[in-house]
Amino acid sequence: MAMQWAEEQTEARGIMLLANNVTKTFMSNKKEITALDRVHLYINQGEFISLLGPSGCGKSTFLRLVAGLDSMTSGSLELNGAPIVGAGRDRGVVFQQYSLLPWMHAWENVAFALKKTKGLSSAQKKKTAYHFLELVGLKGFERHYPAQMSGGMQQRVAIARALVYRPKLLLMDEPFGALDAQTRRDMQDLLLRIWEEEKCGVLFVTHDVDEAIYLSDRVYVMSAHPGRVAKEISIQMNKSRDWNDMLTDDFVHYKREIVSELERQKALKKLAANG
Ligand code: ADP
Ligand code: MG
Repeated sequence: MAMQWAEEQTEARGIMLLANNVTKTFMSNKKEITALDRVHLYINQGEFISLLGPSGCGKSTFLRLVAGLDSMTSGSLELNGAPIVGAGRDRGVVFQQYSLLPWMHAWENVAFALKKTKGLSSAQKKKTAYHFLELVGLKGFERHYPAQMSGGMQQRVAIARALVYRPKLLLMDEPFGALDAQTRRDMQDLLLRIWEEEKCGVLFVTHDVDEAIYLSDRVYVMSAHPGRVAKEISIQMNKSRDWNDMLTDDFVHYKREIVSELERQKALKKLAANG
């Protein structure tokens, strides 16, 4: 039944990522923790999807499974019809911490990701790194060390590094969470520009409601303990891609819908705890 559903969906819509009944449990102090409980979701080709939910609802766990950095307990996870078995160049990952190598210049940090790419000379790797640094707005900073750059600039380098082998799917785990508000807005716009240019799919993890609505085609709202998809919301509004978007009736409508779902989840948790 589930398999048939999966096949139908893949054929019908050009699905890129399909998660079917994904469950992940951890053992912690001899207790079993269900981080993800039968998560069911999909990402269409080139779609921008956010995974939104409170801390501890399993967002990072899910992203790590898609990245191939961890394995699930049960369920299936397919990228373009093939099961995900490990990390691969069809996916690029950006974490909240920039995790750049401090002894390398910006361009070397980016080129480093091409280390294992065959058939590219060092000169070509350098050229590619410079190209992606320009794409993220860092032209002229190629020879700066991470310590010489602001948080926003370091995150730009990390994005360039994730893009350098042209992944089909970009995975981002609260990538702007450590940035100040203004830088965060700039980075969101930068991300949208890159997304339009690269035409990749994006799985974006956040706990920020505004950010999810502003960026996404669809939002999956998650609930915690165990982590489940509580609601799927398609964001259908005209976006001018500037911050006036956040003042429109449509935006407020979606925000109300999402916030009330999060509140509902909280109330259910409380009830369960008291009962
Ligand atoms: P989020 O990213 O939404 O904040 P996580 O995916 O990090 O949530 O965590 C989901 C749940 O799984 C939490 O209860 C967390 O404590 C637990 N968890 C995550 N990673 C591990 C691990 N390696 N070992 C044990 N428990 C874990
Ligand atoms: Mg997390």
